Amino acid sequence: MSIAQNLIALTKSLPKNVTLVAVSKTKPVEDLMEVYRAGHQVFGENKVQEMVHKWEQMPQDINWHMIGHLQRNKVKYIAPFVALIHGVDSERLLQEIDKQAAKHQRIIPCLLQIHIAQESTKFGLSETELDALIAKAINYPNVQLRGLMGMASFTEDTAQIQKEFAVLKNIFDRVQSQLTGFDVLSMGMSGDYTLAIEQGSTMIRVGSKIFGARNY
Ligand SMILES: *Cc1c(COP(=O)(O)O)cnc(C)c1O
Repeated sequence: MSIAQNLIALTKSLPKNVTLVAVSKTKPVEDLMEVYRAGHQVFGENKVQEMVHKWEQMPQDINWHMIGHLQRNKVKYIAPFVALIHGVDSERLLQEIDKQAAKHQRIIPCLLQIHIAQESTKFGLSETELDALIAKAINYPNVQLRGLMGMASFTEDTAQIQKEFAVLKNIFDRVQSQLTGFDVLSMGMSGDYTLAIEQGSTMIRVGSKIFGARNY
């Protein structure tokens, strides 16, 4: 199947309330344009330079999501246009996003990344750190906290993945009952998005299932 056919089949299979982020990292603009022409406007990238490059080349009505770990000194390059930053996991980063958003008279929507996987290599906050960060967000009026993001363990163990997504959903529900406009739960990738949707995901980040395997 072509990239466009993959996209269309996947879109059709999703519940209406789930937003698909087409993860286009490492892929050339022509591949992204195939997806765009098939009617899709939400793309996810994990490198600042690559996202800026594609933003410059492509139509202006695309929503660009930063899904990777974001360094503070690079926030300024995406602040003019980024639609959603998924991986916020420190106050220092939140502060920098706020500062750069203010420069562009914008309010930038962000998701806080929660550590749910067993692996210790993945970024993200504990639940205690999350609560502390949310309490401080009042000081950053040019950031809008829209929800949470998480990545499950890289494992074949379905029960384990389900458990991790359920943990994240639980935390999300608790925070959502306290904050208005907190409505995005970003969880699920090519290998586990069906499990994530079953556990209450509202946003999935899918790359290889649309674009094919990546060559690094
Ligand atoms: C690359 C990436 C994805 C997409 O991965 P696939 O397995 O290709 O769907 C999702 N989320 C993040 C944070 C990523 O870096």
